[in-house]
Amino acid sequence: MKCFMCKGKLIDKPTTFLADLGDCIVIVKNVPSQVCSQCGEISYSNEVARKLEETISLIRRSPTEIAIINYDTKKVA
Ligand SMILES: [Zn+2]
Repeated sequence: MKCFMCKGKLIDKPTTFLADLGDCIVIVKNVPSQVCSQCGEISYSNEVARKLEETISLIRRSPTEIAIINYDTKKVA
């Protein structure tokens, strides 16, 4: 797979995903992703992107200000 920004080589590695929901910040660690070796652009597979959305919508309903979650275990740290 090639980077859609610069056509650089994509490397599979876990990254940290951060979402700022305004009154809440969600951090998901160890998200399986593809990182461009040239420009550093991060992309996720459809499945991973969907799981991230699910996770965020769950957090949105809780009164937490900062949530740190491990992608694999789904455990809130
Ligand atoms: Zn790139």
